[in-house]
Amino acid sequence: MTTLAERLSAIDDGIADAARRAGRAREEITLIAVTKFHPASLVQDLYDLGVRHVGENRQQELSAKSAALSALPDLRWHFIGQAQTKKASAIRRSAEVVHSVDRARLADALDRVAVDDTLLDVLLQVNLTEDPERGGVPPAELERLAEHVLSLPTLRLRGVMAVAPLDEDPAQAFARVYEYAVRLRALAPDATWISAGMTADYAEAVAAGATHLRIGSAITGPRPAQG
Ligand SMILES: *Cc1c(COP(=O)(O)O)cnc(C)c1O
Repeated sequence: MTTLAERLSAIDDGIADAARRAGRAREEITLIAVTKFHPASLVQDLYDLGVRHVGENRQQELSAKSAALSALPDLRWHFIGQAQTKKASAIRRSAEVVHSVDRARLADALDRVAVDDTLLDVLLQVNLTEDPERGGVPPAELERLAEHVLSLPTLRLRGVMAVAPLDEDPAQAFARVYEYAVRLRALAPDATWISAGMTADYAEAVAAGATHLRIGSAITGPRPAQG
């Protein structure tokens, strides 16, 4: 058995290695620890080990854990799951970044529920498969969605997010994501983030320019049974 500290440190080393091999600076890359299905106490343990970015894919869990840990002001919550429009307000109250904006209606809902002049950072999730159930905007519609998000005053467009398909070489999939990021930057020069790479494929993501890695099980250990 390994400890949480050992697993986190192994991932930190793995990211540093991948960055070195890609000729990139480690500081360009943000590790988001994905803590879904694990209790708030595990997030606290990660915080004590220096983690400041955590990711959740379900609104109820995001809301509950961020409320439980609200005393940690420099802990940043990233929402990375498929979002229902009616959950926009709850998501916006807890997350500083939403990675999974994939349609104009969701962007509108997130914009409408702003409560003060704090901007919400958003990424456009791009669907790398032909399956609409996987979430994400089809690549052909990326620019149209970007223009829409840019028109909304309380959202700050930061970049693109993607999940590699199970049936494609991740290096190839992330090369496509990089092209989408370049296309987005042509419209929004400040949208420089690329959220890509999970436990199984983060090294390939770093090689393809990812700036934000979403890593769960390699850090937390296996997820408890889904409730
Ligand atoms: C669960 C999840 C991750 C992390 O997956 P691991 O394979 O456990 O690293 C990353 N991104 C999204 C969107 C997820 O839902």
